[in-house]
Amino acid sequence: MTTFSPLSETALRRCFINASRSESAAITFPAGFTAPDLSTTPVFGWRDPKLPLRAYLIVEDPASGAPAGVLLRAPDTSAGRKRRVVCALCEDIHSEDDVLMYVARRAGSRGRNGDSVGTLIHADFGCSRNAVAEQPANALITDPEQAAAERLAALRRRAGMFLDRVRS
Ligand SMILES: [Zn+2]
Repeated sequence: MTTFSPLSETALRRCFINASRSESAAITFPAGFTAPDLSTTPVFGWRDPKLPLRAYLIVEDPASGAPAGVLLRAPDTSAGRKRRVVCALCEDIHSEDDVLMYVARRAGSRGRNGDSVGTLIHADFGCSRNAVAEQPANALITDPEQAAAERLAALRRRAGMFLDRVRS
């Protein structure tokens, strides 16, 4: 059994693919924050406690296994009407948690020119938890553990596709 050592805040600040130096430096972590293990939690994130519409998504880059961060802008939901939409990362249909349209500025020069991509993601980034959560009984699922592993693999794949969109 290998010991898990959480990613440091410094390492996390450095892994963002679409944040400027000043944006990385301005990241505020939630109180008591400890980064989860990417091998079991391939997607996690948080809202900036000081900047209400800023959010951070950390995913395992399928190409390298390394963490990759995406700086996101959250929608202003103060006046919005809620409607049920499906999260593009976990595609979970059982969770009651809110799903929001987050917007990521593209990496590099395209981003500097104002190009961005939007994706529906769970408001609290609970996608990894949703992937392994116990599912309602389903005659098609004969091996729940195997099914959970497949959902986690699919989550990794979709998170990698989102990274590609931000990088391209
Ligand atoms: Zn999700």
